[in-house]
Amino acid sequence: MRFTSTRGGDTATFSQAVIKGLAGDGGLFVPETLPDISLYLKRWHGLPYTELASSFLSLFATDIPRDELNHCVELAYSDFPDPITPAPLVKLSDNLHVMELFHGPTLAFKDFALQLLGQFYGRHIRDTGHSLNILGATSGDTGSAAIHGMLKHPGVHSFILYPEGCIAELQERQIACTGSPFVHPFAIKGSFDDTQDIVKQIFGDATFSSTHSLAAVNSINIARLLAQCVYYLHAALKLEASEDNPLEFIVPTGNFGNVLAGWMLSRMGVRGMRFCVATNVNAVVSNFFKTGEYRPGTVTPSHAPSMDIQQASNLERWLWWHFNGNGARVREIMTTLQHDGKFVLDEIPENTDMIRAISCDNAGIETWIRRAWLEKGYLADPHTACAFAAVREDTRGVILATAHPAKFPEVIASVTGQFPQHPSLEILKKRTVIKHILPADVEAVKIAINSHCKNLNYYHHGNNR
Ligand SMILES: *Cc1c(COP(=O)(O)O)cnc(C)c1O
Repeated sequence: MRFTSTRGGDTATFSQAVIKGLAGDGGLFVPETLPDISLYLKRWHGLPYTELASSFLSLFATDIPRDELNHCVELAYSDFPDPITPAPLVKLSDNLHVMELFHGPTLAFKDFALQLLGQFYGRHIRDTGHSLNILGATSGDTGSAAIHGMLKHPGVHSFILYPEGCIAELQERQIACTGSPFVHPFAIKGSFDDTQDIVKQIFGDATFSSTHSLAAVNSINIARLLAQCVYYLHAALKLEASEDNPLEFIVPTGNFGNVLAGWMLSRMGVRGMRFCVATNVNAVVSNFFKTGEYRPGTVTPSHAPSMDIQQASNLERWLWWHFNGNGARVREIMTTLQHDGKFVLDEIPENTDMIRAISCDNAGIETWIRRAWLEKGYLADPHTACAFAAVREDTRGVILATAHPAKFPEVIASVTGQFPQHPSLEILKKRTVIKHILPADVEAVKIAINSHCKNLNYYHHGNNR
């Protein structure tokens, strides 16, 4: 399997695409063709999660020997308290399930992808003798999940940018209280979009990123999407989605990464999958699906900070499929976006692509946390609450619960009287926050990376020793 850039100017093997993150022409890597997996579904039904994951991923990671792939997958999910059922389906009514994706080590769905990405990076380091340094921007949960995924590989520096003052206190503690000398929390005076932009610019500087052996962990990394496909597949098999009895996945959305993974599966011959994107007040993605116009603005902080995003990077991949792999067309649209600050499609995506869209402001989030608790006895975190707002009682639905409620206890307590806790977060409350506050400026970030990578020469020339 080869991977190609959404802008048509670069191709790579799986392992190359994973290490590069962003394609050389500024596009994102996508599988050149999506396999038809309909023939495998019978055989895969009922497989344990990690076996399902290796079977699925082996169709894409064709340059990794199968036993090594199995090993990566086993290790990736070994830190989940229940590796057999990492994504439990909780039944709330005949028509409604919640797929809980927050049982990983950092209590958010991003663990599914980043634990595996950490294993792929570890494998790369072992195979090449070259170390890597991780650079990523986070709206709250990617950072801690990435750090956790990399802590098993000593010597790997993790540079994590997040918008200062804009992520939840416990999210910050998960990034800034690790005590590890290899973790560098960069609190940027700007929005998440600014941090993501800085990261993109740094990766755009090929010399800087190669001399610092930088590797990406953002949802622009194709390995993350493929890892996320697995829990959709698991749920579609378990709940027997079919054209006669479809299943709507209701997905809290920011960067459009989570839901895109599910949507990709629906293009691989898994029948009966429908989708709903649920944004918070930063409704760029839901507006796009409702109107065909994509117009990112400035971020409004909300109760659901991990979705306080206006630039939905992964939409570029969706466009590539939407235009049947026409990289020139995608490149054109991205240029328009850069010049005009927006682009408009001729058709309304909601009508053609099985993706419905809603948005939910802070008042809505509070309402739906309260209603989920009172009506269903379910404690939803503020991100997941946006998905509850989209439930249609007459449709079979699966809500993707993306974070553990204990990560956002204040708003939950204020509307339900419940104060959710988790032991791993209680430990962090006692530690000191150590972070570097930096301006939203690429050069400042580069200087900081440089000064923290004192051992760079050693890492960079690791092969020669
Ligand atoms: C990252 C995140 C999201 C948004 O996921 P996308 O892939 O960016 O759409 C939603 N909820 C939580 C808790 C997250 O951490």
